[in-house]
Amino acid sequence: MVPSNQWIKIKAPATVANMVCGFDILGFAVNDPYDEMEMRWVARTEQEPSIVIINLDEYNLPTEPEKNVAGAALLALLEEYDKTNIKFEVKINKRIKPGSGVGSSAASSAGAVVGANYLLGNIFSKDDLVRFAMNGEKVASGVKHADNIAPCIFGGVTLVRSIFPLEIVTLPSPELFVTIVHPQIEVRTADARSILRQKVLLKDAIKQWGNIAGLVAGLMKSDYDLIGRSLEDVIIEPVRSILIPGFDALKLSCKQAGALGGGISGSGPSIFMLSKTDEIAKAVEKEMHELYAGMNLPHHTYVTTINQKGVEILADFI
Ligand code: ADP
Repeated sequence: MVPSNQWIKIKAPATVANMVCGFDILGFAVNDPYDEMEMRWVARTEQEPSIVIINLDEYNLPTEPEKNVAGAALLALLEEYDKTNIKFEVKINKRIKPGSGVGSSAASSAGAVVGANYLLGNIFSKDDLVRFAMNGEKVASGVKHADNIAPCIFGGVTLVRSIFPLEIVTLPSPELFVTIVHPQIEVRTADARSILRQKVLLKDAIKQWGNIAGLVAGLMKSDYDLIGRSLEDVIIEPVRSILIPGFDALKLSCKQAGALGGGISGSGPSIFMLSKTDEIAKAVEKEMHELYAGMNLPHHTYVTTINQKGVEILADFI
């Protein structure tokens, strides 16, 4: 256990959930952007709260533990911790914009529970930490889902084979470059969910599970062409993409620039593309710039790689 009062520094990566055909089950972590957090534990008297959250950024997120995803995740962890005389102090510097669709909420939830576990002497398993952090996702979107949390905690590409009971499978992947564009529009997760159809045609389901299996096999065999062919979504994307301006044109021009494929990140509005080389990933970024500049749509881009480590404890004592 880290001694009380000693601050630790935490780096929590952004994540891309859904991975085109893998709606709600596949996701991966990226090296940029990421959130920075600091945490320590101190002795608590009975009158004091068990969690104190301090925001170091401009987003004005709630600091009440029940309303901040980091607090909700920590409350779940403390429920399974036998000592009650502990208070966590958490400073959060969000560098992943909330609501951008690249796992801003998951980074805070996952960062908080990985940090707490480190402070307590790593008593919980990674699966436990995912379970706790899912309580943060419930605060952010109303449902417990793990497709951002799992890659944020485990790193790399992850498959959530089942939520109840929780089963996470980590997948290997060849070197992949990731280009992300975040158009500055708001897509509410609730809207993105409510427009989905509740029934699918069998022929579409067959296509989709062929693509999911193809994508997983492509990642495991480092077969870039198979990965590219499998990055196709016939169920969710045709419905959701209408919420994102210029989606079809952007996808087409990115593919023409050499991207293997890509799609909506999480529930949007960010879009991601995977490429075989850094050079292609930068050419893809240029296409994204040109399209959104032409539409006068303010946007941010990132060219990055898959993060294999997940949440990291950066410095022991600061
Ligand atoms: P993203 O996919 O980028 O995580 P979400 O819409 O899932 O976006 O989550 C963001 C929502 O969660 C916002 O409504 C935000 O106010 C809320 N929230 C509460 N605490 C946090 C936090 N620590 N970090 C990010 N979002 C938070």
